[in-house]
Amino acid sequence: MQKIVIKVGSSSLTYPTGLLNFRKIHELAMVISDLSNMGKDVVLVSSGAIAVGAPKLSLEGKPVTTREKQACAAVGQCELMNIYGDIFGQCGKTVAQLLLTRDVLDFPERKQNAEGTLQTLFAHKIIPIVNENDSIAVEEIEFGDNDTLSAYVAQLVQADILILLSDIDGLYDKNPQTNKDAKLIQYVDNITDEIKTMAGGEGSQWGTGGMLTKLVAAEVAMSSGVDMVITNSDNISNIYNIIEGKPIGTLFKAQTTK
Ligand code: ADP
Repeated sequence: MQKIVIKVGSSSLTYPTGLLNFRKIHELAMVISDLSNMGKDVVLVSSGAIAVGAPKLSLEGKPVTTREKQACAAVGQCELMNIYGDIFGQCGKTVAQLLLTRDVLDFPERKQNAEGTLQTLFAHKIIPIVNENDSIAVEEIEFGDNDTLSAYVAQLVQADILILLSDIDGLYDKNPQTNKDAKLIQYVDNITDEIKTMAGGEGSQWGTGGMLTKLVAAEVAMSSGVDMVITNSDNISNIYNIIEGKPIGTLFKAQTTK
């Protein structure tokens, strides 16, 4: 596997206090830098800007209004990139920021620019870190969540695999937070209505989409010839096992080859 897109959710980057989980960020930066040194092209799609920005605006809990969210994103994105820059820097890596909105896909020239920039960054062994441009995104041009965004990024770079790091081991047959007997589904090759029903519950406090947006991402990835895996961010070095093809988390198998 040469091209890998890794998406990390807010629920993985932050503690329930809303503050950053530096241990995970360090582990993530270490593994991604290592993969880059192995010769792989890796993109990180990172959420977390709003969660990082919120304490700086002295908000209690999640921001409510769109303006508050956009302000938090503007402050938080800057802070988040500073942190990634420092931590990846300790591994000898340079990071780059790409803030995208959905219309990048609608205009061939913009799409080409995004794709060209990513390929050039790969050639220079720089780690692209992608997020939605939350401060300017309105409904018509937003991806809406980073699960979907990461699937389109995987499509754009024709990735071999998209790995979604979450606060849960994978897709269960029902929400495991509320059902003790929920069972992990290890392999999905078709997103049926039955599968969609399983993903009905809401996500965590800082996560946005829960499993539903991950299934939307899976549909985009699978139809673009990209395998997708949902796995737990508690064990970030499992990324090595995943790219070796070991059965970790839930694998959504690509329907077509690229
Ligand atoms: P992230 O921030 O990683 O994107 P989310 O909080 O948005 O994470 O989504 C993961 C959450 O989705 C889980 O913690 C769980 O509460 C919820 N969930 C709902 N239904 C399911 C299901 N069938 N299988 C797994 N998780 C589920």
